[in-house]
Amino acid sequence: MPSMARSPASSPPTRSNRRNKQPEVSNPYIGRFAPSPSGPLHAGSLVAAMASYLDARWHGGTWLIRIEDIDEGRSVPGAAEGILQLLAALGMQHDGDIVWQSRRKHLYAAAAARIEGATYPCGCNRREIADSRIGVAPDGSAIYPGTCRHGLGPGRTMRSLRVRVPAAGEDAITFVDRFAGPVTQHLARDAGDFVLKRADGFWAYQLAVVVDDIDQGVTDIVRGADLLDSTPRQIHLQRLMKAPTPRYLHVPVVRNSNGEKLSKQTGALAVTAGDAPAAIGVLMETAAFLGLALDGPAPDSIEAFWRAAIPAWGRLLAERAAS
Ligand SMILES: [Zn+2]
Repeated sequence: MPSMARSPASSPPTRSNRRNKQPEVSNPYIGRFAPSPSGPLHAGSLVAAMASYLDARWHGGTWLIRIEDIDEGRSVPGAAEGILQLLAALGMQHDGDIVWQSRRKHLYAAAAARIEGATYPCGCNRREIADSRIGVAPDGSAIYPGTCRHGLGPGRTMRSLRVRVPAAGEDAITFVDRFAGPVTQHLARDAGDFVLKRADGFWAYQLAVVVDDIDQGVTDIVRGADLLDSTPRQIHLQRLMKAPTPRYLHVPVVRNSNGEKLSKQTGALAVTAGDAPAAIGVLMETAAFLGLALDGPAPDSIEAFWRAAIPAWGRLLAERAAS
C-alpha cells in the first residue's frame, strides 16, 4: 500500500505546503480513522471511515489509521488486517505509520500517572455498582455512585482505576459538533466517575483514545454518532491532561435513498484488491448513506470516485453550514 514516509506526530506539515491546499479551514489538519478489530468492518464503520477520509482530503490534511485493539479480549485475530485490506482496496490511502493501541500501553500508564491527583482506586464490583441504582449512563453502563471516592473501605482491594468528574453544578461539558451542533452533557449526572483502568487489567477505551489523539496531534475527529456520548468524557480527560480539544464531527445514522438503515449490511464489504467494479459499488453505496451528491457521470474507476467525492464532501459541509 502506498504510504507517505513522514510521521505526522513528529513533523507537522510545514508552512510552505500549507499554502497550496484547500483554502477552507486553518491547517495543519490531522484526522484519523480508528476502527476496533472486533470483526470485519461493517457498513456503519465504513461510512465513518469515508467521512473522516474525505474531511482530511478536503482540508488538505493528514489521515491516520489507528487500530483500537486495546480491548484484547474483543479483538478477533485477522480482523485488523481485513479492515486494512478493505480500506486499501477502496483506495483510501493513509498517511504515516499505522498505530496499534495494544503496543502503546506504556503511554496509557504514563498518562494515568500524570493525572494521578484526579484518579482513585475503586474496589467495587459490577454487582455493587448496579445495586446502587444511581442510574444508567448513555452507553448503557451503570453510573458509579462514588463509593470509593474517599478511599477503599476496610478489607477492600483495588479492582479498577477511576477518574473523578466535577461535582454536580460544575459538571457541564459543552462542545460544538460540526454536524450535531452544540452538545452538552452533565458528567456527574450522566456519566459519573468513569473507569480508566478496568478490572481485567486493560486500559479503558476512553483513556486510550484521548492519549492517542493527543500523542498523534489529531486536530479533527470525524466518527460515528455512536461516540457522541463519549465525547464529553474525553474532553474532561483532555482538560486534565492540559491538551487542546480537537474539532468534532459525528456522522449521524442516516438512510440511503431506498430508506435502508445503516445497520443493515449493504453491499459486499469483502472487496478484494483489483476488483474495481465491486469497490466502486461499495463506495457509491457508502457515499449515498453520507448524503454525498457526486457531480458528473458515474465514476468508472476508484480514482474517479474519489475525485468526485472530495468536492462533494465540501458541498455537503457548505450545505450543512448554511442550514
Ligand atoms: Zn468503588
